[in-house]
Amino acid sequence: MRRSLRVCILFNTLLLSSAASRVAAVKQHELLSDTLAFEDPRAFKVKSLGELLRALGVFRLCSFPVLVNNCGKLMSVARTLLGKRGFSLLLRPTVYAQFVAGENEAEISQSMQKMSLQGLRPMLAVPIEEDLGESTGEKRYDDNMDIMLECVRMSHSNAWSKDPMMQLKITALLSPELCVKLTNVIRQQPYDLNLLIRSMDGEPISFPGLDEKEAAHLRSGLLRLNKIAEASVNKVRVLVDAEYTYMNPALSLVTMAMMKKFNKDGTWIWNTYQCYLKDSRSLLLDVLSLSKNEGFCLGVKLVRGAYMDKERKLAMKEGHQDPIHQSWEDTNDSYNGCLDVMLDVISQEPERYRIIVATHNEESVRRAVKRMEELGIDRDGGSVCFGQLLGMCDHVSLTLAKEGYSVYKSVPYGSVDETLPYLVRRAQENRTVLQGIRKERDLLRKELNRRLRLSLRGGS
Ligand SMILES: Cc1cc2nc3c(=O)[nH]c(=O)nc-3n(C[C@H](O)[C@H](O)[C@H](O)COP(=O)(O)OP(=O)(O)OC[C@H]3O[C@@H](n4cnc5c(N)ncnc54)[C@H](O)[C@@H]3O)c2cc1C
Repeated sequence: MRRSLRVCILFNTLLLSSAASRVAAVKQHELLSDTLAFEDPRAFKVKSLGELLRALGVFRLCSFPVLVNNCGKLMSVARTLLGKRGFSLLLRPTVYAQFVAGENEAEISQSMQKMSLQGLRPMLAVPIEEDLGESTGEKRYDDNMDIMLECVRMSHSNAWSKDPMMQLKITALLSPELCVKLTNVIRQQPYDLNLLIRSMDGEPISFPGLDEKEAAHLRSGLLRLNKIAEASVNKVRVLVDAEYTYMNPALSLVTMAMMKKFNKDGTWIWNTYQCYLKDSRSLLLDVLSLSKNEGFCLGVKLVRGAYMDKERKLAMKEGHQDPIHQSWEDTNDSYNGCLDVMLDVISQEPERYRIIVATHNEESVRRAVKRMEELGIDRDGGSVCFGQLLGMCDHVSLTLAKEGYSVYKSVPYGSVDETLPYLVRRAQENRTVLQGIRKERDLLRKELNRRLRLSLRGGS
């Protein structure tokens, strides 16, 4: 009799406690979904008054399509009229301060420390990139390598955040012309990754389909990449950017060779997948199976893609099929599909796979967070993190960071003149995001009003 009473009490206690934990879980979930509506202006509490006003002013300017669409021309007219110094005086406290970390290590360090106090992590991005017809010669590529090595050093020696990351554009180290040629060559006769790895190790490889001058340039480029990878292993994660479809296969080949060489025990070299491409899912599935077969860890930067207009124009001009999904909705489906694939493999082998959900899209961020919860992936376990550009969608970044997720901001640095082409390209690529930034402006205004009311009441 006493035994059955004890069983009954135990059963009731279990029922009650599991009901209580269910209620707690539901409450936690509701709290999280409220927070992830990204509608709380207190996300900006960490920003100074000056930063709020600057962001409001810059975003107001970005809301005029005519300014964003013609910013390249407008900036060069302003530079001619004001001269280098006057132009710098105009840009530095405004657009430059919003989107660029600074010019020298002291300035960058100051911005990074502020960012670190806000719970955000820097991902330094050297703003050098080239397209066809802009090639600069072997000496310039060597100089670029030194700049990248300096970026590796700055990223890890300053301890701005745990687990530092940086971005790398292969076209800063290898000519776009060669990348296009290599892309065409490997479509006919795929290269074995070991061929590139042997070349990185200094063997005088002759590459099929390339003439001796091209092969020599590829060998030099691979040596440069090898030096950067060697300097970064166990210190800084290097995220290779995706560029145009007419050169991406070559960039991916080189990146996969680096992954095979350097990612044996950890994800130090990452590749980028652009979900606006119709073949993005199959590219991702291919690299997943390659990483399994070749035994390397895989890091993925998942983006929608930045070069839509140019890709479409080129496809039309050359009579090719448009490589980009037909609509934004299709790109979103593609992004979600690739995200699900990655989160599934991460939940099974978090030590082998990593992803940075690099987007300003709130819906994608919510989807990633929800799926992480369902799959039991840690918020800051390192295998999933989030990324936005410096100065953009801080309401998303700061909210995620406050909730304990790892959030990186892509941080360009350099002088006004060095970063100007980068800023113009990013403004054009992100013009839909910039023009739709109304929500961030509303939240900034609400935070300003909140502070005004507080100070009128004598609060702090
Ligand atoms: C940390 C970080 C790193 C990045 N690295 C790279 C990189 O290496 N390579 C690169 O290419 N980009 C890169 N980007 C830029 C990125 O690809 C997007 O251009 C940018 O983030 C805007 O997309 P979104 O998901 O943030 O915003 P959203 O507003 O949700 O999406 C806008 C994007 O959707 C797509 N899109 C818009 N309209 C259409 C349409 N009609 N049909 C089909 N697709 C459409 C385009 O890709 C457009 O950029 C990076 C972005 C971040 C934040």
